[in-house]
Amino acid sequence: MGCHSPEAHQEDLKALAGEPGERPRFALAIHGGAGTITAEGLSAEADQRYRAVLEEALDRGEKILESGGTALDAVTACITFLEDDPGFNAGKGAVFTHEGRNELDASVMVGENRQAGAVAGVTTVKHPILAARKVMEESPHVLLSGAGAEAFAAENGLELVDGSYFYTPERYESLQKALEQERGMGRRSTHSLVTDWKFGTVGAVALDSAGNLAAGTSTGGMTNKRWNRIGDSPLIGAGTWADNRTCAVSCTGHGEFFIRNAVAHDLAARLLYRGDDLAAAADKLVMEELEAMGAGGGLIAIDRAGNIAMPFNTAGMFRGWALPGKRWVGLYSGESQNHQEPSPKTGK
Ligand code: ASP
Repeated sequence: MGCHSPEAHQEDLKALAGEPGERPRFALAIHGGAGTITAEGLSAEADQRYRAVLEEALDRGEKILESGGTALDAVTACITFLEDDPGFNAGKGAVFTHEGRNELDASVMVGENRQAGAVAGVTTVKHPILAARKVMEESPHVLLSGAGAEAFAAENGLELVDGSYFYTPERYESLQKALEQERGMGRRSTHSLVTDWKFGTVGAVALDSAGNLAAGTSTGGMTNKRWNRIGDSPLIGAGTWADNRTCAVSCTGHGEFFIRNAVAHDLAARLLYRGDDLAAAADKLVMEELEAMGAGGGLIAIDRAGNIAMPFNTAGMFRGWALPGKRWVGLYSGESQNHQEPSPKTGK
């Protein structure tokens, strides 16, 4: 943590959206989780692969926004694509619980009327983000959990899969390591949630041509979670928030801290009540306040004017953004967010 300068971050993203008052036709940002993501830790192939997948996710969302589609459609298109990719901790490739299962959480929110939907602890829904959207659109509720959420998803025609669909050997190996470490820790074990901080949660935020904002987040949670632990990702106001008066936010990181700080809503509140600038407020929250609590993670946010912020206090965060005619993806801290500069490793 603590390796990304807030000042540099603000400078990098300034004026990307154009002149003040001039809203871009659309804006889109995605993340694939924050954590111990370093150039040394990822092979050149993995580096290239992650960049290509992020580009492809941006393509999916951009296509929708380019042709006048909604921010909500763009957000769910990006997230379903990332849920299908085994490299991220959402949908296929989700992390394992203590008991060796995958319990998935997701949420979505639209800024026009602050409608929201979420599911927590689902084990058979192929695309949890679509279940969250159905909760928003087809139920009088905001958050459904467990077997009930699965029954609701089935009733609404969503694809269900056998739990084994989510399995990947890498994530299972991470659980075995966590369990081993836990055994070594003895009684303190109930406090050890995760040992490798490559979170891998996915999220997207978008602003569409009608000026509507939307945000969504999907995750398998944290390796070795137990007792049906639920993190910030399916909690509206903690992991996800969208309000056309302010901004759309999707968070990733150590969920307990994001819940305790109502991070996504807090960022919007700073804009609404105090008139804070998006990048400055997001940097202060993540780089100073969460950092001071020992809370690792980051967020992506787009404000109503199309400004984008994506601070994180971990070594890296899989992330990217798209504006009309401009595109950027990055993995590590310190990668320039200036769209004109090639990213250091791939030269793209
Ligand atoms: N925030 C998620 C959780 O705590 C994990 C993550 O973002 O990687 O469940």
